[in-house]
Amino acid sequence: MNQTSKIINQAKKEGRKALLEPEAKTICMEYDIPVTKFKVALNENEAANYACEIGYPVVLKIVSPDIIHKSDAGGVIVNLKTPGEVTEAYKKILENVKKYNASAKIVGILVQEMAPQSTEVIVGAIKDPQFGQTLMFGLGGIFVEILKDVNFRIAPLTPDDAKDMITELKAYPLLKGYRNTPPADIGALVNILSSTSRLVMDNPEIKELDLNPVMAYQKGAKTVDARIILE
Ligand code: ADP
Ligand code: MG
Repeated sequence: MNQTSKIINQAKKEGRKALLEPEAKTICMEYDIPVTKFKVALNENEAANYACEIGYPVVLKIVSPDIIHKSDAGGVIVNLKTPGEVTEAYKKILENVKKYNASAKIVGILVQEMAPQSTEVIVGAIKDPQFGQTLMFGLGGIFVEILKDVNFRIAPLTPDDAKDMITELKAYPLLKGYRNTPPADIGALVNILSSTSRLVMDNPEIKELDLNPVMAYQKGAKTVDARIILE
């Protein structure tokens, strides 16, 4: 059986609807969606060792089925550059999370590659009761939250559908490049949308998927956070 079915079956068995970030990213990897390198550490020393393997700077994040919005819980610390900073951040995250929700079950701490800052985009999927799996694409931050500049298409997407979802955004000129901002790799974003379409079509038990943010680079793109919710 593939990783994706294994992860989904395991979550169902445990009665969990929200997949953990490392689970969601493992599924993404199986569908050729680029994600930050990561490993789950169970203690501070392990975290420091993984940081070394992955390469500095790294980001540490809480892994808990009871914490969906990790930064709200003080569960994300970015830009860690030394083993000392990693062990400190490890302790700090556990402390923050305990304050936020004393009964949260802690699976471990995710150590991951820090993705360089760039234009942030959001790839989403939602299972519409009428239309079925539907993909969403937009730019991060104010573009989605305030300007509602997002495009939807019903899955399965053709590469042309995916391209239209990107180029029809009002904010598309930002991706095409302007002033000192280099153009984003539109092909890489088309591939992520197409892969996400395949992912949700193959797995109808997925109710919601969020790749938020995806860093769009001049060459390639990288998913920094992934969330999958099951029916
Ligand atoms: P959540 O959405 O659950 O609060 P995220 O994993 O999205 O947590 O982390 C919050 C923010 O931290 C992200 O929106 C991003 O700006 C930054 N961030 C998280 N992981 C990374 C990473 N690997 N590289 C760079 N920035 C990151
Ligand atoms: Mg996020």
